[in-house]
Amino acid sequence: FRGRKLEIRIIPFETRRQILVTHDATESERIEAMRRDFIANASHELRTPLTVIVGFLEIAMNDPGLDAATRLAHLKLMTEQAQRMQRLIEDMLTLSRLESDEYPLKREQVNVKALVESVAAEARALSGGRHEIDVKVDGPDVMGSAEELRSAFGNLASNAVRYSPDGGRIVLSWERGQNDLRFSVRDSGIGISPEHIVRLTERFYRVDKSRSRETQGTGLGLAIVKHVLLRHGGRLTISSEPGAGSTFTALLPNTSLPT
Ligand code: ADP
Repeated sequence: FRGRKLEIRIIPFETRRQILVTHDATESERIEAMRRDFIANASHELRTPLTVIVGFLEIAMNDPGLDAATRLAHLKLMTEQAQRMQRLIEDMLTLSRLESDEYPLKREQVNVKALVESVAAEARALSGGRHEIDVKVDGPDVMGSAEELRSAFGNLASNAVRYSPDGGRIVLSWERGQNDLRFSVRDSGIGISPEHIVRLTERFYRVDKSRSRETQGTGLGLAIVKHVLLRHGGRLTISSEPGAGSTFTALLPNTSLPT
């Protein structure tokens, strides 16, 4: 039991006897600490845009003579901050649904080729022509949740766009591996160093907070990807070289093949 925390309770039993109960509290304490961290991070993330909105509302009330152009600029900034809060809340709800036993995975036959093509179309729209985005699909259909897989694959593709400089090349592929099925996104972007890679799927973990905000990130995307893959019996692997680019691969087990 070295390094573990044991809780010992003595429960009175009959008149002169007691029962000694031991309980390993290490795991429950770890979960409790994660919960506390999540609430602290989420509150902080929501407070920042709210502070901006309240600030501009106070200006509007104290200075009713503000010229139309300034007023419009303030409204735009407030809208951006409100949208940032909306994205955060959407992602938090998605994560909590993915983790909840009340929403078990609903499997249906998913045409992954078509799904990847439409994820690529969205990535091209986000890129606005700033990147070259190629698609290689020759993998089969799978049994899974189309909605969840779309959100996981879409998150990986949009990250590639958001963390690659203009002119970068991005390749989305869907193929059969030796023992599994693989959706991968390869980019020629900023890359990630090994000490960060191991923490990327933690909620709100970002290598560069200001860059993530600029590109409208919530810090929850990869946590969502990880949970979607876990629910499908799969996992995420990441390989990267700082300055050269990254490859994110979503692995799904062969058991997801339709029978
Ligand atoms: P965010 O909303 O901040 O993008 P994610 O959970 O999607 O949140 O990603 C977490 C962090 O991982 C990002 O803030 C970024 O630092 C890093 N990251 C994700 N994808 C890439 C990528 N393709 N290239 C470089 N860094 C990435």
